[in-house]
Amino acid sequence: MKKKTAVVTGAAGFLGSHLSDRLLAEGFQVIGIDSLLTGNVRNIEHLAGNSDFHFIKHDVTNYIYLPGEVDRVFHLASPASPIDYLQLPIQTLKVGSLGTHNALGLAKAKGARFLIASTSECYGDPLVHPQKEDYWGNVNPIGPRGVYDEAKRFAEAMTMAYHRFHGVNTKIVRIFNTYGPRMRLEDGRVVPAFIGQALQGQPLTVFGDGSQTRSFCYVSDLVDGIFRLSQSDYHEPVNIGNPTEMTVLDFAKAILEFTGSKSEIDFRPLPEDDPKVRKPDIALAKRLLDWEPKVAFADGIASTVAYFRQFLSIAS
Ligand code: UDP
Repeated sequence: MKKKTAVVTGAAGFLGSHLSDRLLAEGFQVIGIDSLLTGNVRNIEHLAGNSDFHFIKHDVTNYIYLPGEVDRVFHLASPASPIDYLQLPIQTLKVGSLGTHNALGLAKAKGARFLIASTSECYGDPLVHPQKEDYWGNVNPIGPRGVYDEAKRFAEAMTMAYHRFHGVNTKIVRIFNTYGPRMRLEDGRVVPAFIGQALQGQPLTVFGDGSQTRSFCYVSDLVDGIFRLSQSDYHEPVNIGNPTEMTVLDFAKAILEFTGSKSEIDFRPLPEDDPKVRKPDIALAKRLLDWEPKVAFADGIASTVAYFRQFLSIAS
């Protein structure tokens, strides 16, 4: 039987590379597209020589031309960490708007299912806790994070328009903080930042007083949620994330304990518009997809620490 073809934009990124692995394991041929602006071929080098995986270096804010049949389009391409989108504000807006338009256009032309990687940032600094899909959010459109938040909100609106107006079979996943191997050590997000600092004996940079909360989902759980959603018939946004909430300060202490590091904690100013709380309500994903996270925090952190240990010893 002929294999189905899935296109993954952002395939050389953290999530895109793990999703590509899962799709290959599910029997898809995968066409991975990435501009390599924040992605890295290191994340997909293990797929070199796999005849079911094809990589195309392309910026999806430009027209995407692909010959042949395409059954699924997963649009994950975007700078995704706060320092990335602060340094790449225009590219972030472009990939969320023009990139989403092009990826939707590809799905429409090929009659493919489409899934957009949206974000818990659609809820901004939330006034409702935990966040349910029907909460419209509290976003500052002109603040520094607005370039990401509004790009993703626009991407959701564009996706629903292609669904309603063109009948494209679309899905929207709102991804909450996710961690695991292949995150970039220098991407500024709290997981690689604290693990990298702890392993190198540097102070852990806790922003603000560390009382803000996040809920961390291990990457294999996240990818499982995305895959299940892509198989469903549901078109409105679905939260995928781990509802186990902790403060950033407690997270720093947990990393010190896991790594056995003697690093100090260094309190730094809180970035503008940094959300004070974040925790997904996953009742919809449970009901619709029979999905909930399976990987315990201790196990997920252990494999992530092992990855960064190896990465640092290779790098040094
Ligand atoms: N954070 C921190 N120190 C760091 C990096 C991040 O205290 O070195 C905090 C950040 O202010 C936020 C939380 O950790 O409150 C999560 O930050 P991250 O950049 O991982 O993603 P966000 O959830 O803000 O998109």
